[in-house]
Amino acid sequence: MPLLTVQHKSSQLQTYPSMTARKILFLVLDGISDRPCPELAGKTPLQAAKKPNLDAFTREGVCGIMDTIAPGVRPGSDTAHLALLGYDPRTWYTGRGPLECEGTGIRMEPGMIGFRCNYATLSTDGCITDRRAGRIHDTTALSAAIQSGVDLSTSGVEFFLRSGAGHRAALAFRGKGLGHCVSSNDPKKEGVPPLTIRAVKQTQKDKKTAVICTEFVKQSIAILADHPINRDRVKQGLSPANVVLMRGAGEMGHFEPFATKYGISGSVISAASLIAGIGTAVGLHRVHVDGITGSQDSNLAGKITAAQEELRSQDFVLVNIKGADESGHDGLARQKTTFIEKIDAAISPLRTLQDTIIVICADHSTPCTVKDHSADPVPVVIWGEGVRTDEVIRFDENSCAQGGLNRIPGSSLLLIALDLINRSRKYGA
Ligand code: ZN
Ligand code: ZN
Repeated sequence: MPLLTVQHKSSQLQTYPSMTARKILFLVLDGISDRPCPELAGKTPLQAAKKPNLDAFTREGVCGIMDTIAPGVRPGSDTAHLALLGYDPRTWYTGRGPLECEGTGIRMEPGMIGFRCNYATLSTDGCITDRRAGRIHDTTALSAAIQSGVDLSTSGVEFFLRSGAGHRAALAFRGKGLGHCVSSNDPKKEGVPPLTIRAVKQTQKDKKTAVICTEFVKQSIAILADHPINRDRVKQGLSPANVVLMRGAGEMGHFEPFATKYGISGSVISAASLIAGIGTAVGLHRVHVDGITGSQDSNLAGKITAAQEELRSQDFVLVNIKGADESGHDGLARQKTTFIEKIDAAISPLRTLQDTIIVICADHSTPCTVKDHSADPVPVVIWGEGVRTDEVIRFDENSCAQGGLNRIPGSSLLLIALDLINRSRKYGA
């Protein structure tokens, strides 16, 4: 970082930083924010955790609490990340399907229809017996077999099926006259047959998509039934992955590219395909890191190293760390606390990061007592050159509420960071 030499009254020479960073790092700790937990004697996991690094950033930075979307709105991770990137989800959100498709590597063009999918198990009597196909680990070969075997050309539609983590996959249709208002074939419970996919609004476009979905499911069942992987799984007493359940249909929109919107380049680092997909949908470069899982066992050190390397060439990097959200959904307050301590240890190399505004926040609260997301505002800290610090010394929900940022909407966060690197546009003369 360039240094200025300042002459003080005492005639001692002292060095100060130049007070303007050029880069921004967003560290989004997914679902880390919580409510008081009985298991932690009324503390939140952030309050209970030992986290010297998060607290040090807080001591040296400016804090606040943030309504990612708006007060009282329970954010999904997808809508929350759109808001944090400055894309108002009320304008830009097109459903989870197209973003999941982007996240699995399908290049979504405006107008394409995307679905999130699960490989599941269909019994010989036609009922779903396992919605996650025995938590199968790798379905790449199954998706490849469907991609080469299913033929939808008579309907004038191309399709793209890609496997995600575990039993997950994503499916996209490209063709003319397709609607996205169609129902799911996922019965959301076991012991019943898959549902028939129907047009929700009964438009010609939706009816066409529903017919294509039904044809896709029928043809893919025939391919999966006979696939060697499934024959092996049955022999081993495992649930075969012999049906694709699809849901979350949406039509891909046109996103104003991040570089055009803000005049800066950026990257995204996330194990969660949904978050990576949001990043690539707005034009961020996706960085792959070995050993990241979106869970407690993720390679956090690898993510932090990758972020530092990426900041050499990019102006902006968003890192999503998912594990705490998982603990919140499972209601495991102690596990969440331990994971916060793991995150804290992993971010210690960032303490000496130069020329960078670091923003640490959650995308939403995932209280262990709720086991789902809540609308409780999340703590946020902004650290780096030029930041006006406040009195807050601990990174948690209550402490940050006393900070100098007060309570901000998620849509302001990137704008505040851009202003700190002198890249915001002046409003008025
Ligand atoms: Zn989230
Ligand atoms: Zn969640």
